Amino acid sequence: LTPDAWLAGQDRTGTFGRDRARHLSHKGTFGDVAIVGGASAGTSHMAGAALLAGRAALHAGAGRVFVALLGSPSLTVDPQQPELMFRSLDALDLAEQVVVCGCGGGDAVATVLPKILSRAKALVLDADGLNAVASDTSLRALLRTRAARGWHTILSPHPLEAARLLGSTTAAVQADRLDAANRVAAQFQCVVLLKGSGTVITAPGEIPVINPTGNARLATAGTGDVLAGMLGAALAAGLPAFEAACRTVFRHGQLADDWTTSHPGQVLTACLLAQDHQPDLQQQQ
Ligand code: AMP
Ligand code: MG
Repeated sequence: LTPDAWLAGQDRTGTFGRDRARHLSHKGTFGDVAIVGGASAGTSHMAGAALLAGRAALHAGAGRVFVALLGSPSLTVDPQQPELMFRSLDALDLAEQVVVCGCGGGDAVATVLPKILSRAKALVLDADGLNAVASDTSLRALLRTRAARGWHTILSPHPLEAARLLGSTTAAVQADRLDAANRVAAQFQCVVLLKGSGTVITAPGEIPVINPTGNARLATAGTGDVLAGMLGAALAAGLPAFEAACRTVFRHGQLADDWTTSHPGQVLTACLLAQDHQPDLQQQQ
């Protein structure tokens, strides 16, 4: 294409024709995700979990991703992913952003959850966010109020986290995964995905589904944090919570399956899972 040919072929009506939607999109179009987690306590530092979730949200197509680390020392940049923007929790606009809370959050997450549960209109609650709810009756009550306000919540427990929420044991959860997931969903009126081989996705009023993708390469540290970030991106793209959960769990497992096929005998790390994939652009149209 030459400049002359380009100009001669231009639509000069000023409407941009059928390219209008493309030209009008900007980073705000694909939504903001805020990751809250990554606590430090004594000599224990969990920032990595929040970074994995943040990176995954970016690579899954979120327009902008903010990270609020709980505790100090805090990072101000992720050198390998400088697109991530570090903020204090107070500087986040919780009502306007999809909040992903809990990844590496430690005990500190309990102190910020009252604010998050009562302000974030779209929320993914994972890991220590779930543990905090399990052990605090006022947080449980606050979580239950969200559905009545029309707010969206996805809970993403692994079997032990689900057992804590139910006051049960991992063995009992695993003995009837569908029943356990349904009971958590009924108790909190949320979308629930019970992780593990054959993740169960359920919600009040929905027919539960069992995810067919994924493999044991996912049984490694941080892959759940990656899933949480991807869930945030799907909500930020405007998908309804149940559909966002189903699509994202499928895609997360599929990435691991594709990796296993293309890299036989190699280990899949969560960092690679977070970064080595194309977003599901269908979600963004
Ligand atoms: P987490 O336990 O939070 O670190 O999350 C682990 C992630 O890996 C979840 O998405 C699980 O569903 C997935 N996962 C773990 N083990 C397996 C497995 N054996 N087969 C398939 N997916 C798995
Ligand atoms: Mg986890």
